[in-house]
Amino acid sequence: MRTPIVAGNWKMNNTAAEARRLTYELLTDLQAVQGVERVLCPPFTCLQAVSELLHDTGIGLGAQNLHWEPKGAYTGEVAAAMVAEFCQYVIIGHSERRAYFGETDETVNKKVHAALNAGLTPIICVGETLEENQAGQTAEVVSRQVNAALHGLEAGAVSRLIIAYEPVWAIGTGLAATPEIANQVIADHVRGPIAAAFGDQAAQAVRVQYGGSVKPANARAFFSQPDIDGGLIGGASLKAADFIAIVRAATG
Ligand code: PEP
Repeated sequence: MRTPIVAGNWKMNNTAAEARRLTYELLTDLQAVQGVERVLCPPFTCLQAVSELLHDTGIGLGAQNLHWEPKGAYTGEVAAAMVAEFCQYVIIGHSERRAYFGETDETVNKKVHAALNAGLTPIICVGETLEENQAGQTAEVVSRQVNAALHGLEAGAVSRLIIAYEPVWAIGTGLAATPEIANQVIADHVRGPIAAAFGDQAAQAVRVQYGGSVKPANARAFFSQPDIDGGLIGGASLKAADFIAIVRAATG
């Protein structure tokens, strides 16, 4: 039995003061939810403030990126050990980073290794674009991204990962995938390649979220699918009432 995990990706939307306010709004209700791992992922500049509020609450904190090198002349970048001072999780390979900031399968893999070595739990994003979807390339793209992200890992490390299947055309568009199709992609093209490379046990242990226009109204339909273990939530995670409702939907 895999524990569902629901993470809020706040993207580039909060000053530290705003992040503190949103965390306050979320805290009591999120703390009351049992049986769901809950994670907030604010911008880097909010991590310290939010980590102070989350101390001893059982709610996890995640960053939205990291750099794979441990330190050095990489202006503007943040290393895994720096993230790990505040966070337990880190989002890696979000489609916005792949589309706008040159993230590749290779850099995703380096970041996954760096995160695990620093004791962080990576939330690895995979998913096909609209063009790839329409060209019938979903299987090929998703399995390639999964294989590349996990390259060189030990089977034992794989079960510590979170993978988020996020069809790019569903992110921030209001156009969610259908729960049944998302479940099938996860079973066949996320767990499938993991089973082939690392064995069935690792493939069944790894938690796989769905992401892309999850709202209170559709969350339960996604989270009740057998291969979907919670969600990575963008827009709706910025509204306290919506995020709380989505987290509650993961309790089954
Ligand atoms: C995301 O940013 O990962 C995401 C899924 O966004 P949204 O929920 O807004 O589609």
